[in-house]
Parts: sequence; structure tokens; C-alpha cells
Amino acid sequence: MTGLSDSFQRPINYLRISVTDRCNLRCIYCMPASGVSLMSHNDILTYEEIYTVARAAAELGINKIRLTGGEPLVRSGLPKLIQMLAKIEAIDDISLTTNGILLGRYAAELKSAGLQRVNVSLDTLKPDRFKLITRLGNNLGEVLEGIEVARSVGLNPVKLNMVVMSGINDDELLDFAAKTIADDWHVRFIELMPFVGDGTTPRRFVSASEMRQRLEPMGELEPCLPSMGNGPAKYFRFPHAKGTIGFITPISEHFCFQCNRMRLTADGKLRPCLLSDYEIDLKQPLRSGISSAGLKKLIKQAVANKPLRHQLAKGYVPKQRPFSQVGG
Ligand code: SAM
Repeated sequence: MTGLSDSFQRPINYLRISVTDRCNLRCIYCMPASGVSLMSHNDILTYEEIYTVARAAAELGINKIRLTGGEPLVRSGLPKLIQMLAKIEAIDDISLTTNGILLGRYAAELKSAGLQRVNVSLDTLKPDRFKLITRLGNNLGEVLEGIEVARSVGLNPVKLNMVVMSGINDDELLDFAAKTIADDWHVRFIELMPFVGDGTTPRRFVSASEMRQRLEPMGELEPCLPSMGNGPAKYFRFPHAKGTIGFITPISEHFCFQCNRMRLTADGKLRPCLLSDYEIDLKQPLRSGISSAGLKKLIKQAVANKPLRHQLAKGYVPKQRPFSQVGG
């Protein structure tokens, strides 16, 4: 097998890069109510350092990059990083995950820098509930506008991620599904993952099969063939719908066996599994002038230590970082 693969022969070709731990929201499923201590400016990898890691990873076999955070659009000069990454020959797909608040302002610039696609987190269509879920936001309107601007500049398909929480937003499943029929929305319903913090208690969990049951009154969901995207979501559509519905099932039907990704945290830790605390530090070696060969050796070491699967079923929840510091 050519390229990068882990000790279970899974090809690893996807790197998710968190460019900041800072966020302009405080979503209940992502951060503890008490807040998180923020990394200092000096702790965060510079764009040049991120580029150096991405180039080494690309030379090993990574060809897809997703930028995330925190909220990636609060870091200044993000288009500059995208331009740098887009010049790496082996990288053929650059995407972004955002809460959408600043998307309207930056979408055109991001597109011309080389960004191809965008995923927007959208957990509710109700302004008062948006405030409840995000703890801060009064700006649902800006998110909806950002989605439209992203579509109009060609950051397509714009995928909308909804973390479904019982008693919080699960009564909006049908509203979101209706948007896929009339408005060409691509909505992904995500099962809530437990993480440090208080918003992810088991009583909030809704399984994808329960979500599907709740959607039954709207008609029969047909699988999208050939299957859309190359991630873990399974896609469906209602007959004659313009858009699609995806289900992401990290808990009820984990997809570890097809996991192709690694994560780079904003403070330079390479993390081969979202749901394990194992990480390898790249920042110190980068700042001590590590060679490209040395960097590649560390990347391979992280890949070799990628666990076969997460251990949530055995009660293991990552403890070192809240979701906002890993990048989702
Ligand atoms: N700020 C950006 C955003 O809002 O999309 C990027 C970072 S956010 C951590 C990335 C993704 O993680 C989002 O799509 C969010 O829905 C998801 N996420 C965060 N905490 C989660 C949890 N406990 N369970 C499931 N998904 C979660």
C-alpha cells in the first residue's frame, strides 16, 4: 500500500487542523459552562508552522485538509493560510468547519484563496434557542446569511451540521428536514458525543435510528447513490427533495474502522483519534528546528499509535481537552 496507513492498514489521508482554541460562541455541547482556559498567543502554531506540518504530512500521503477551531474565522489572516496550503501540490481538497457568524464577511475572500467547501454548525432555526445553545449568540440571522453568501460564492456543497440533543433541539428535526425538500439544504444530524463539560449528559443523547423514526411522517428516506461525500455520514433524501439528509453516528454505529483522519490542535499536538487523549507534540520540535525527515518520523509515529476504535462504550471519555480545543 502506498501513502500513509496505520497499524490496522487504514489509509490515513485527511488532516483536520485547528487554527485556534478561541471561539465567539460557547456551545453547551462543546465547552463547559465554567469556560476553558485559553491558550496563550505563543502556544498557538504560527501559519508557517502549520504549513510546515501540512507539507510534511502531504509528502507522506495526506491530500485532504479541513480547517477548524475553536472558531477558525476568528483567527486573523485565515485566507493567507489557505493560500499557503493550496500551493502544496498533493493537497487537492481544502474545507472549513465554522459556526457561520463571520462567514458572510469572509466567504468570497476564502473562496478566492483556495477554499473549496464549507460546513456550518447550525443547531436550531429559532433565535431564542440559538442563544440558549450557544450561551452567547444573538446572531442566528448572520449565520443564515453567511450560509447564503457561502453558497453564492461557490463554496459548495454547504453542509449544515446539527448536533441533536433531547429536550433542547430535537423537536426541530422535521423543520430541518423540510428545508432539505424545499431549499436545497444538505443537513447532517450528528449524535451527541460525551466530552468534558456539562452539556453532553447521556439523557440528551438521541440515536440516529430514533431520529429516522421521528422523520417517518415526512415520507420514506431514499439512500443517496452513489454515496455522497467521503466521510462517515450516511446520506438520504426524500423523494423529489432538492437537498439531502446525512446521519453521523459516532455512538450508535461507530465508523472507526473506516477512519482516515488525524487532527492537529492549535497548540501543535498531533492527535490520531478524536476520542483518545493520546497526542504527540510537534510544536517544540518545530521550534527547535526539526528537519523535515524528523517531522515525518513523528507524524508516522502518531499514525502508528492510532487506536483501533474509541472506547466510549467502555465509559472512556477524553479528559484532557474540551471539544473546542480538539477541533471536532
Ligand atoms: N466553531 C466551529 C463550528 O462551530 O463548527 C468549528 C469547531 S466545532 C468544535 C466543530 C464541530 O464539532 C461542530 O460541527 C460541532 O457540531 C461538533 N461538536 C462539538 N462538540 C460536539 C459533541 N459533544 N458532540 C457532537 N459534535 C460536537
